[in-house]
Amino acid sequence: MINIILFGPPGSGKGTQAQILVDKYGLEHISTGDLFRYNLKHNTDLGKEARTYIDKGELVPDNVTINMLKQRVEESPEAEGFIFDGFPRTIAQAEALMKLMEVENTQINALIKLEVSREAIVERLLERGKTSGRSDDQNETTISKRIDVYLDETSPVFDYYQNLDKSYGVNGLGTIEEIANRLHAVIDHLYAIQRETIEKG
Ligand code: AMP
Repeated sequence: MINIILFGPPGSGKGTQAQILVDKYGLEHISTGDLFRYNLKHNTDLGKEARTYIDKGELVPDNVTINMLKQRVEESPEAEGFIFDGFPRTIAQAEALMKLMEVENTQINALIKLEVSREAIVERLLERGKTSGRSDDQNETTISKRIDVYLDETSPVFDYYQNLDKSYGVNGLGTIEEIANRLHAVIDHLYAIQRETIEKG
């Protein structure tokens, strides 16, 4: 079982790349952003609570997000491993994920960050906003706020996993295929390490 956190600022291509990784490695993709959007669309209580934060480009409170994530993981007891996309976004979430993985008798193998400049992100998000129907992609103030939140609250999560020797960075610029190949190189390496560990017994 391999569990990966796909990390990076909003608009760095996590969702697109996660989809490719799901097809290649048979991992289960969990995007907290997608889970929130599902709840917004169906106007659930969770959706109503999350909307105020999402529309402002702020993070939904940790307790709400962590409970939602736990439930989603528990819905997939047969998974071969997970790709977490958009989670964890705070140190409290990283700690909760660590505990959850322990309870599930597994661990996070790596955090992989897609590295993209601020200018490229703003451009990509505004472009995506034309077709995604996401209100938080259409307004430059909200986009800017989301990037600030990423830098202030989320980027320390990279250091958290770096201290555990689990953080990797790949260049997030280029074609979808080029970026996917860079991710495959890292993930193939993780599987190789896992095989070696199992063989050593
Ligand atoms: P995303 O699709 O990952 O860019 O997420 C869209 C929005 O959902 C974010 O701007 C946050 O408001 C909210 N969100 C998604 N994931 C999280 C998370 N792990 N913690 C808090 N808020 C989140």
